[in-house]
Amino acid sequence: MAPTPEQRCAVGIDVGGTNIFAGLVDGTGRLLTTLKRPTPVAEGPAGIFGAMRAIVRDLSGRVEGRQLVGIGLGMPGLIDRRRGLSVFSPNTGFENVPIFPEFAEFGLPVDVDNDVRAHANGELKFGAGKGVANFILITLGTGIGSGIVLDGQLYYGPGSTAGEIGHITLEPGGALCGCGKRGCFEAIASGRNIGRRAAEAGIAGTSRDLFQKAAAGDEAALALVDKVAYDLGRGISIYAHLMNPQRVIVGGGVAQAGDLLFGPMRRYAEMESMPGVRGTYEIVPAVFGDEAGIVGAAALIPALTEGVA
Ligand SMILES: [Zn+2]
Repeated sequence: MAPTPEQRCAVGIDVGGTNIFAGLVDGTGRLLTTLKRPTPVAEGPAGIFGAMRAIVRDLSGRVEGRQLVGIGLGMPGLIDRRRGLSVFSPNTGFENVPIFPEFAEFGLPVDVDNDVRAHANGELKFGAGKGVANFILITLGTGIGSGIVLDGQLYYGPGSTAGEIGHITLEPGGALCGCGKRGCFEAIASGRNIGRRAAEAGIAGTSRDLFQKAAAGDEAALALVDKVAYDLGRGISIYAHLMNPQRVIVGGGVAQAGDLLFGPMRRYAEMESMPGVRGTYEIVPAVFGDEAGIVGAAALIPALTEGVA
């Protein structure tokens, strides 16, 4: 008999510039066990792959009778999923590195995607995108990333760069972005840059502090949160006009600000949407937080989610 969703599991590995988070995820999207190791960035791709293999071996010993059906990887930067290639990742030093051969010894299906798309995939299979054919996931963390789901499938584009919304110019001549341009959405409204704006205004040191102060009623903090919500709402409305999604799912650290942010963000996104677009999409928080990358990476393995819909 085929294993039930509860009886199968996959390894999900979320490789970040500082830490590797990993875990076992069952066929219902439940996280069974997790671990965290530092990313040995100084050792280059060989060292990072070595650390990832050690993690797979460790997790393989924790399946407790379940069937291990594959290894899913979420990696930063530009990933060519079809060819299993890390095309470019400035934080980890990968450049045109083939990924699948590194995991051949396990004899299991291996899949890889960019970390944000992996998160979108997790929301699609188990979270706020379940049963939603067309949605966009926007993550507000250090940067701004997004994953696009069209007709129930992740959308890549020929160069796998679809969804780079963080680098749409929102403010010509604005703050310098890590990509070298000025006034990018990310340079204005990512978690790191919300923190920068709060610091420049003398209100708070980080975006988290800003939202805490705003929640406590600090007027200057509330005024800046309102500006940030406007920028985010504007960015979301651009995306909504382009893609006609049913949902815009907002994840990443900033999304934890909750209604304080979502309330005005929804209002401004509506205000910036033309009739016919306005009211056709809802803006909701992501289901997955810190574990999003692990769950989403594991969900890349088709055998994990088969028959779960
Ligand atoms: Zn940029």
